[in-house]
Amino acid sequence: MGSQEPDGFREMQPERLNNGDGSVAIDEEKVAKTLRAFELSMKDVTGHEMGVIVGRDGLVIRAGIVGEKDSIRPPKELVKNNIFSHTHHNGMCNLSTEDVIAFIKDGGYEVRVVTPDGRFVSLKRGNGELNRSLGEDMQRMRKGTNILDEIKKRTMEKYGKSDRSLQNKELESVMNEWLSGNANKYGYVFTQGRHEL
Ligand SMILES: [Zn+2]
Repeated sequence: MGSQEPDGFREMQPERLNNGDGSVAIDEEKVAKTLRAFELSMKDVTGHEMGVIVGRDGLVIRAGIVGEKDSIRPPKELVKNNIFSHTHHNGMCNLSTEDVIAFIKDGGYEVRVVTPDGRFVSLKRGNGELNRSLGEDMQRMRKGTNILDEIKKRTMEKYGKSDRSLQNKELESVMNEWLSGNANKYGYVFTQGRHEL
């Protein structure tokens, strides 16, 4: 397989991607540039979530995807092996269990969330074997009977009070800490960052 392949050829052979040998390169620089531009352009949209799908070559596949108030479902045939980023206009910079489950089910390469303050989180496939139960296990953790009590307790300890916005902030940390500590055990890579505004 050489460089004479026509544009788009790689995307037509999704089975070649992530076979554990990293055989298909990603244009990291171009992808990062495109993601930054589109994430900054959509992060301040209010009322509903917004999304963009970017190919591994850094070209936009679909922009301006409009979601619901607290959810978004991009066309799954476009998500496959590609990068899907979306906004959480409520400011919570964490992947929901629904985000992770849909990402794995649809066979995406990377799923991202961006918030109005410019922060983002990313979950992507690693080069090795994947354990696809990541989403379900995350959901089990999220639905654990003690998690809400734990969050209230942590906000009380940290801030001396516990209202909805502090609890959301704490829930965001709990979810991110969990992915941070567990994603690699399933063959995925989790990162957090912030765009320079
Ligand atoms: Zn989401």
